[in-house]
Amino acid sequence: MNEVNRPKKPLALFYCIAAAVILLINLIVMPMIAEKEVETVDYGKFMSMTENKEIGLVEITSNQIIFTNKDQTKFYKTGLMNDPNLTERLYNAGAQFSSQIIEETSPFLTLLLSWALPIIVFIAIGQFMSRKMMDKAGGGPGSLMFNMGKSNAKVYVKSSDGIHFSDVAGEEEAKENLAEIVEYLHDPAKYQEIGASMPKGVLLVGPPGTGKTMLAKAVAGEANVPFFSMSGSEFVEMFVGMGASKVRDLFRQAKEKAPCIVFIDEIDAIGKKRGGQYGGNDEREQTLNQLLTEMDGFEGNTGVVILAATNQPDSLDPALTRPGRFDRRVPVELPDLKGREDILKVHAKKVKIAEDVDFEKVARMASGASGAELANIVNEAALRAIRNGRKLVTQADLEESIEVVIAGYQKKNAILTDAEKKIVAYHEIGHALVAAMQTHSAPVQKITIIPRTSGALGYTMQVEEGNHYLMTKEELENKIATLTGGRAAEELIFGSVTTGASNDIEQATKLARAMITRYGMSDDFDMVALETVTNQYLGGDTSLACSAETQTEIDRKVVELVKKQHEKACQILTENREKLDELAGVLYEKETITGEEFMDILNGNTAA
Ligand code: ADP
Ligand code: ZN
Repeated sequence: MNEVNRPKKPLALFYCIAAAVILLINLIVMPMIAEKEVETVDYGKFMSMTENKEIGLVEITSNQIIFTNKDQTKFYKTGLMNDPNLTERLYNAGAQFSSQIIEETSPFLTLLLSWALPIIVFIAIGQFMSRKMMDKAGGGPGSLMFNMGKSNAKVYVKSSDGIHFSDVAGEEEAKENLAEIVEYLHDPAKYQEIGASMPKGVLLVGPPGTGKTMLAKAVAGEANVPFFSMSGSEFVEMFVGMGASKVRDLFRQAKEKAPCIVFIDEIDAIGKKRGGQYGGNDEREQTLNQLLTEMDGFEGNTGVVILAATNQPDSLDPALTRPGRFDRRVPVELPDLKGREDILKVHAKKVKIAEDVDFEKVARMASGASGAELANIVNEAALRAIRNGRKLVTQADLEESIEVVIAGYQKKNAILTDAEKKIVAYHEIGHALVAAMQTHSAPVQKITIIPRTSGALGYTMQVEEGNHYLMTKEELENKIATLTGGRAAEELIFGSVTTGASNDIEQATKLARAMITRYGMSDDFDMVALETVTNQYLGGDTSLACSAETQTEIDRKVVELVKKQHEKACQILTENREKLDELAGVLYEKETITGEEFMDILNGNTAA
């Protein structure tokens, strides 16, 4: 899509000058033209002029007499006297009675002519000028001062090479959900006819990098309508009140361009729950209020559809999500195996790729990766191919770049001492062996002990077979056992422990805790939720919801659970001590072994 910055208007200056000119005309020029000079005279002069038959026109109003000389060139006025024969005398003096010597224009007409008309003319000129400027799309660099409070929304104009649903792989449910919006934007009249109204706002909810922005653009691309995009954090700027005016401006533009899509990224930046905390953010609240007002302000069928993205749906203000606002929620989840494969294929189209690449295998290895990470993996693979002087991206490139994206680059110059290398080899084999010996655990895909820039000294890549939506208590326990396997091997072989297991410990604890507080997998607490997840898509922070005594109890149970699995791991490794030594030896020599090699050795086939 072609991105066009909205034209800036240096027109404010023009309007200022126009206003000054109008004031000048009205205060100085107009009175000079309008007023005929009327001389005020005393009644005696009027009487003598009457006597001398010098009166031309005369008008007697309720509080004064206005008259002219014979030639009607001079105008006079005088007060009214109790003079009963005045009319007769004037008649005799040949004066003409007139009803309107001084034409009094109605005050309304005056107002219209002297104020409204010039203003209208100037505005018309202004509009014309701005239209002219808009034609020169892009516009010049407008003066900063005149642009504060403008939305700066990026506008993507219609274009045939826009993003389409076919570019977004994997998110089938989300696409299905959004297809209706596309349909609506194609033909709003159809919906008006039957009286149905589209939801004004659709909330795209999911972890970062899953393609929410892409989906919003694709909706606009499919419907072939303009796309306004703005990030929530852009609304909240340094000047108080600017956010609200930006919202106003954004919606004004959108209504002009309807039907269209307005996309607000990171809506949680403005849409956090209000109140509650000390020193609330006034600016944010104002901006949010303005957004709510705007959403309520337009009818359901104006053809403006607002899409918003967030990865913290729980923190949104309930006012935002109630019916009539963002009442439709479209989950955009991390892709599953099939989804990952599709996403890889979409991105692989952009690079030259070898024929024999097995996307499914790559997708399997990249479990848990988001769309953005997969895009990155393909790109890293292409870069690696270039570094190695190849013209095509190979399977090896892709596999290596998974590790690059997930674990960081290989640290070429980080040289482990021999002793360290040995420990790491046993540690990693410990994980893999425990995993392999528990029937329910997924087999390993690859083990390496090449240090990574992320700080990991070794790396065991487990492979999930197919998709897993439920996990049994046993599977979770086995997973904890596998996590403790590294440390268990160190203990068994070296009789001492190292710092290398900190990440394992963290994960094992988290898992054990979740089993007890959230999954109801302990004997004592039954199905009671003791913890709630507050931040589902970003790390999954939890908050405790139980008494201090229960907390103590939970802590005790977590320790018990992990300990039990740790013992199990130790036992497995003790029973398979020979295999452990053999495997660790091979890993130490080769630094990297694949899952197949691992299984071959484990099953007693001679090592390759
Ligand atoms: P979000 O808005 O959810 O954080 P984006 O839409 O900005 O994520 O995605 C970032 C990048 O990741 C996209 O530009 C695209 O290259 C890639 N990507 C993410 N999800 C997908 C997907 N489902 N299909 C194809 N590419 C994707
Ligand atoms: Zn480990």
